[in-house]
Amino acid sequence: MTTQTLYRDYSTHLQELYGEKIYKLPVNLPGTCPNRDGTLGTGGCIFCDEEGAGFESLPNYLSVEQQLSENKAFFTKRFNVRKFIAYFQSFTNTYVPLEDFKKNIIAASKEKDLVGISISTRPDCIPEAYLEFLQEIATERNLDITIELGLQTVNYHTLVKINRGHTLAEFIDAALRIKRYGFTCCAHVILNLPGDDELDVIENAKILSALTIDYVKLHSLYIVKNTVLGQMYEKGEVSLISLDEYIKRVIMFLEYLSPDTVIQRLVGKGPQGNLLFCNWDTSWWKIKGMIEDRMKEQGSYQGQRYKYLYGEGMRNSTPSE
Ligand code: SF4
Repeated sequence: MTTQTLYRDYSTHLQELYGEKIYKLPVNLPGTCPNRDGTLGTGGCIFCDEEGAGFESLPNYLSVEQQLSENKAFFTKRFNVRKFIAYFQSFTNTYVPLEDFKKNIIAASKEKDLVGISISTRPDCIPEAYLEFLQEIATERNLDITIELGLQTVNYHTLVKINRGHTLAEFIDAALRIKRYGFTCCAHVILNLPGDDELDVIENAKILSALTIDYVKLHSLYIVKNTVLGQMYEKGEVSLISLDEYIKRVIMFLEYLSPDTVIQRLVGKGPQGNLLFCNWDTSWWKIKGMIEDRMKEQGSYQGQRYKYLYGEGMRNSTPSE
């Protein structure tokens, strides 16, 4: 069994869609988030450090144009890629004033060799005016637009515990509105949040499938020093599942997920330094290999149990199935 038959992987999907290899160019802009600036709260999500998930990007004092051209030169040389997606990665990119947002998107859209723009944000920061503008630019420049929503879990009790500042309802509302504009939608999910169990893993897969979410990025929880979660971890207040259990959850998630959903990432990478816990001290690519090997051994594949829900009538699926 190849990776493509185990699950629908992103690089193969892009190759099929555009007829060649495509690479995402990260853009890291100075910014904040309503969950950090006092609008919703000041502490942010309990796992968030000050980088706002932009730790793989160039410094944010560089302009959009500079970041895109530097990253493009690097990836072209290293991977011989000729077409790209501009990826606004850090913080809440639709939380900046509309005029600044437009300026950033227009700057990116002028970059040559771009097939699309991907924008990372929160589910409660999707104003219609931003979507309308994106629709104009998409038509004008012939670009595909993806909105990446941080969800983390569909368990709304866990969302409160991790201080996300939004609920499941806001994610559903955002996803439906994004789809109405014809954009693709990506959900970021953490399958090992403290308090979530296997039923939550299955619910994650079922709800994302029901919403026809196009892309999923899976991360395992990492714990950074000087965050609320870091302090809880140092006091022994956080209980984490084992790597073996995590692998089981990822496979379970894939089995219940629609076979149409594309997996952008199976295992996340943690930031360098300041880490208290990350991927069970195992490199992400080893974990990816372990998941794929286990799937092959078990004969598992993405969508294996999805048919029960949608093809053969609703069943009361439980983790023991
Ligand atoms: S939504 Fe993102 S940037 Fe905002 S606090 Fe949470 S992880 Fe940090």
